[in-house]
Amino acid sequence: MVHIVGAGPGAPDLITVRGKELLERADVIIYAGSLVNPALLDYRKAQCQVYDSAKMTLEEVIAVMAEAELKGKMTVRLHTGDPCIYGAIREQMDELEVRGIPYDVCPGVSSFCGAASALKMEYTLPQVTQSVIITRMAGRTPVPDRESIASFAAHGATMVIFLSTGMLDKLSEELIKGGYLPNTPAAIVYKATWEDEKTINCTVESLGASARRENIKKTALILVGNAVAQNGYERSKLYDPVFSTEYRKGTGEE
Ligand code: SAH
Repeated sequence: MVHIVGAGPGAPDLITVRGKELLERADVIIYAGSLVNPALLDYRKAQCQVYDSAKMTLEEVIAVMAEAELKGKMTVRLHTGDPCIYGAIREQMDELEVRGIPYDVCPGVSSFCGAASALKMEYTLPQVTQSVIITRMAGRTPVPDRESIASFAAHGATMVIFLSTGMLDKLSEELIKGGYLPNTPAAIVYKATWEDEKTINCTVESLGASARRENIKKTALILVGNAVAQNGYERSKLYDPVFSTEYRKGTGEE
């Protein structure tokens, strides 16, 4: 059996309990060495075989899984963050299905949650925005035209932009073209939850300059929108003494 496991954003204790138990039991671990913290491999048992998928093709990854399956071994495929976001897992799962190899998926803490925790931030502030747009700039993987940064920027929601740290000047341009003011609050979170984590508060206009100043070129998330300033919000109805909820009677109603 193959378990596709989310490693979490970086800190080795941010993997789920289930994910850690799977790592402890694994006969084979294939981990995404470019982003997964190698400290997570310390959870493995002594005889476990380890492969770094950064140096492998899809075909090679599947061959390792297929061979392990043939020998009745258990494989953990360890992806950074949560595997459902830019994880390239669909193509693996399809290959496993073709071969009749059973698999399941164990979720993880995505880096976009790690980034919010690094900034002690709530993405969805009442009266500021109630939506988070997760997207990326087009790179080697194209982004459909209807999902351009400018078109998403028009919503004024919180945006979390993955995989785009090398294109920040262009990103600023697109965000401004879409309707964000140049001085809209923004942040760069480098290696969220790792020991060398860095957070930089800036504006939409100064994203590129800020990253250059800190020499940040990869492994970062870009957060954009008025919610980044974490002010100007209304308090929640859920915890307002006046309002009743399913669990609590409020003072404002009979
Ligand atoms: N599945 C992963 C994302 C993989 S795509 C997740 O859920 O987080 C890889 C991109 O994710 C990187 O280019 C970077 O933009 C972002 N990323 C991954 N880990 C990060 C971290 N700890 N801090 C900031 N950005 C991170």
